[in-house]
Amino acid sequence: MRRLLQHVFLLAFSLVACNTKPTAPMENNFEPLVKPVLKERPRNIILMIGDGMGLTQITAGMYRNGNKLQLEEFPIVGLHKPYSSSNLITDSAAGATAFSAGVKTYNGAIAVKPDSVPVPTILEQAHEAGLATGMVTTSTIVHATPAAFLAHNVSRNNFQQIALDYASSGVDLLIGGGRKYFYKRTDRRNLIQEMKEENYTVSDFHVEAFEEAVLDFDKKFVYFTAETDPKTVRQGREYLPGASRAAANFLDKRSEKGFFLMIEGAQIDWGGHNNNSEYIITEMLDFDATIGNILKFAEEDGETLVIVTADHETGGYSINPGSTMEKIIAGFTSDYHTATLIPVFAYGPGSELFGGTYENTAIYDKMKEAFGL
Ligand code: MG
Ligand code: ZN
Repeated sequence: MRRLLQHVFLLAFSLVACNTKPTAPMENNFEPLVKPVLKERPRNIILMIGDGMGLTQITAGMYRNGNKLQLEEFPIVGLHKPYSSSNLITDSAAGATAFSAGVKTYNGAIAVKPDSVPVPTILEQAHEAGLATGMVTTSTIVHATPAAFLAHNVSRNNFQQIALDYASSGVDLLIGGGRKYFYKRTDRRNLIQEMKEENYTVSDFHVEAFEEAVLDFDKKFVYFTAETDPKTVRQGREYLPGASRAAANFLDKRSEKGFFLMIEGAQIDWGGHNNNSEYIITEMLDFDATIGNILKFAEEDGETLVIVTADHETGGYSINPGSTMEKIIAGFTSDYHTATLIPVFAYGPGSELFGGTYENTAIYDKMKEAFGL
């Protein structure tokens, strides 16, 4: 009987499969057997993206850290399929657009569909619903991952245009590098000045360390951590854990209705591109310390959904024979991204939606459902 049912199921599945328009790569849209049900709505969502953070990056960080990570505190774990509409191997722009806007698009696209039409993002929808919004990253703030939440562009490389979208977005908080794209511009506009006139406090690393910056809750806030790319952890970068916690506290005060915050550990990916295990591990542990700070906030707050995932794996990173917990013998199969499934960790109200295996675009759908937007 069970065998028969299996055959019926397979037959039904192949009929569905025949009707699916052949696109490359093919999207699998069949419904899960058990659809998770939302039990409780979160007031706030904090989405944390470890760029290039595959399972091996997590594993290497865990062993180096005495066989323990903050990530282990998360009760719900799922898997997402990271491919883009144009390529089995996604880039960070298409990967972030899947999370921010729920569409598979081509590599390089910033919150636009494959036909270049802009799609609304979860950050914009939260802003329109009266929630506070913000982003913190260890790359430039206009880099592909954050850009896909707050800008719309046919190419991730149009940094000046992306900055222009930010300046008129009404976003409550931005912390990251890339200050130069806001004032060294071909259109000669000074977006820093313009944002100050739009009720922003704008500060940067030339003026004061992040820890010394005063966050005035009556104003919106921008802090630039570098003119271009921020330093690596090994060069002394320290701001991500503290700035992320400060960002959550700040946004919590900015709106009665709640907030959406995206936090990115951007340079785990850069360690992968460099095939540099130490670079990966130090950035991974900085991101995990940030996760610890955010979990503390969410635990005290009780109304915050925290999601941690990656856009893709980078490097085809492996831990090879001869390795110990203290010393990893690393292998790499590539200096680019790979197509392996990516873990998703969830904590707090709404986390029940995130178990299972699903497309990367489902992360947007689940956040939207959790918010009730
Ligand atoms: Mg990134
Ligand atoms: Zn990359």
